[in-house]
Amino acid sequence: MPTTTRQWLLNGHPRGRGIEIENDFKLVTTELPDPAPGEVLLRQHYLGFDPAQKGWMENIADYVAPMNIGDVMRGSGIAEVVASNGGRFAVGDMVFGTTGWTEYLVTDGKELTKVETEISPTAVLSVLGTTGLTAYCGLFKVGRPVAGDTVLVSGAAGATGSIVGQLARIAGCRVVGIAGGQDKCDWLVKEAGYDAAIDYKAGRVKEQIRELCPRGVDVIYDNVGGKILNDMLACIATGARVVICGGISRYETGTLPAGPENYFNLVFRRGTMAGFIVLDWASEFPGIRKRLEGFVKDGSLKYQEDIQHGFENAPQTLQRLFTGLNRGKQMLKL
Ligand code: NAP
Repeated sequence: MPTTTRQWLLNGHPRGRGIEIENDFKLVTTELPDPAPGEVLLRQHYLGFDPAQKGWMENIADYVAPMNIGDVMRGSGIAEVVASNGGRFAVGDMVFGTTGWTEYLVTDGKELTKVETEISPTAVLSVLGTTGLTAYCGLFKVGRPVAGDTVLVSGAAGATGSIVGQLARIAGCRVVGIAGGQDKCDWLVKEAGYDAAIDYKAGRVKEQIRELCPRGVDVIYDNVGGKILNDMLACIATGARVVICGGISRYETGTLPAGPENYFNLVFRRGTMAGFIVLDWASEFPGIRKRLEGFVKDGSLKYQEDIQHGFENAPQTLQRLFTGLNRGKQMLKL
């Protein structure tokens, strides 16, 4: 059994700037205690990455505990029980949850869940993880689409956005996505079943939304914020629901973005705009996971996983989310 483990610690709060790998993280080797009664020793196999981790490093979010310099970097993972001193899990079980950036950990496992799925085990971090749950809750509980609606998704080719569009299609909606680059747009239409896609890097976003959504947009699902949100707000239909899921276009800047100029369309079009935190529906996650797994199994929901390799590459892997290098759910295999 190992007596030490490598861990990535938080070493800087990247407020108002991008992540600096050299300064914001520190790789250390730490002693591992023996599991106390009721505890297990876990060996981590995969880490999952979320844009929210940068907000946690900055301490700007108040829905999670603050992170201090020297803390093990917070994050999700899939791990195997390699030793047990009693408790909920047996040796050989695979579990997932907030494990942090560590190769091994000793825990009572109270916050962890056993991996029980008929699809790939890594799905518990992607389509059945925060990504899929966020897509489902944001779309159905906040966006409330009905068949025939036009749904417009920003960050559409990402882990969350790609699931949102497919769920909206399952609900009988017409779906248009906005993503960076022609290859991502091609993937949206050819593989993910989007009706149309707009490459925001090629410009003319507002004009293309108008062309592709001539009767206006009923549901906006926004992962990006900033100028793209403003362009989407210019094109809403009467009674539109605007779902604010994330604002990745501002995560590396110092200040919050200026209010979108076109917000007053919410008045003219009798629209509503609402944000959400997916954790508020945690009690419903087991049932929602089952529904999502059913869609994957019957072939109506596809998902992409982008798996990098090597524990030492954890900081670089997080950075991929902010440069758009990831294709689907960003993960790292240890
Ligand atoms: P993701 O979409 O798989 O990856 C992030 C994507 O954002 C990149 O691939 C990139 O795609 C795009 N991006 C990066 N910088 C951008 C910029 N400046 N302008 C426009 N697009 C940019 O990540 P995810 O984990 O699925 O998260 C998606 C969003 O959901 C994030 O905003 C996240 O904070 C939010 N979220 C919210 C909740 C909640 O409870 N509210 C929970 C989970 C996630 P392109 O190549 O297309 O630019």
